[in-house]
Amino acid sequence: IKKIGVLTSGGDAPGMNAAVRGVVRMALSEGLEVYGIYDGYQGLHQNRIEKLDRKSVSDVINKGGTFLGSARFPEFKEEHVREQAIENLKLHGIDALVVIGGDGSYMGAKKLTEMGYPCIGLPGTIDNDVAGTDYTIGYLTAMNTVIDAIDRLRDTSSSHQRISIVEVMGRHCGDLTLMSAIAGGCEYIITPETGLNKENLLEKIKEGIDKGKKHAIIAITELMTDVNELAKYIEDQTGRETRATVLGHIQRGGQPTAFDRILASRMGAYAVELLMEGHGGRCVGIQNEQMVHHDIIDAIENMRRPVRTELYTLAEKLF
Ligand code: ADP
Repeated sequence: IKKIGVLTSGGDAPGMNAAVRGVVRMALSEGLEVYGIYDGYQGLHQNRIEKLDRKSVSDVINKGGTFLGSARFPEFKEEHVREQAIENLKLHGIDALVVIGGDGSYMGAKKLTEMGYPCIGLPGTIDNDVAGTDYTIGYLTAMNTVIDAIDRLRDTSSSHQRISIVEVMGRHCGDLTLMSAIAGGCEYIITPETGLNKENLLEKIKEGIDKGKKHAIIAITELMTDVNELAKYIEDQTGRETRATVLGHIQRGGQPTAFDRILASRMGAYAVELLMEGHGGRCVGIQNEQMVHHDIIDAIENMRRPVRTELYTLAEKLF
């Protein structure tokens, strides 16, 4: 293997730059050439590919977002689009591709692998919803952002004896909501794993009010319900002012924390090592503090993320 490509795809996440840097610097120190592909699979299809050197990744380890750019490109599901993409890679003599993104991006990498083009997937998403890893790049940074927001909501909710609903990202995975809620001391946690039972929630809120609680903070994962309607329902039923706050894309931005920078650097370098050892069609993870790799097809089709039952129980006990 002599030349490798790297791209970031899907929703951006803090630490993606550090991961690209890890790939580039490791590849260069091993005597390989590296090519950056702009705007994910879209740029790959449009042949927007450029050679990267040491300086290309100077001063990016601390920056949020991704300097390579990212894009949603549903056309990549079509085989002829992927054939063109492989054609473009071959045109530059690129032997293998590192894809940094979430499970959607992994699907693209899986399909390229199935077409005979070797790819390595790195988990880059704040959602922590990728199989085969304890943590995804960006997740812990986003958690700090959410906690900061919850702390602020606590101050004002407490002053006004208000009920606050905070909508957290995560798509179909409740990890970011659960962990942020524990760290932020939220009273109620609603995630895809717990489901939403409005009557039950209301009952618990009323219990809290009876116990003399000055405020209540409810953390809920996005896409579960209309949070403004939920706020109105709670306000109507309890007589307490209730407000919903949708944190939105604030959670995607910001400087990556130390953990994410280190995780991304390790994963980027590890991807290069795997390619040099002749591996393709793998996805990288961290499990019990060790770098691991799994079959990308197996990870997508068969591996399930564990539900953190013990932490839900803990959360219940602590509130
Ligand atoms: P994420 O990677 O953050 O989960 P998306 O789900 O939007 O984000 O996926 C990112 C990109 O990966 C898509 O825009 C598309 O280009 C590609 N992709 C997603 N699903 C598939 C699929 N089934 N086949 C091929 N490419 C896919």
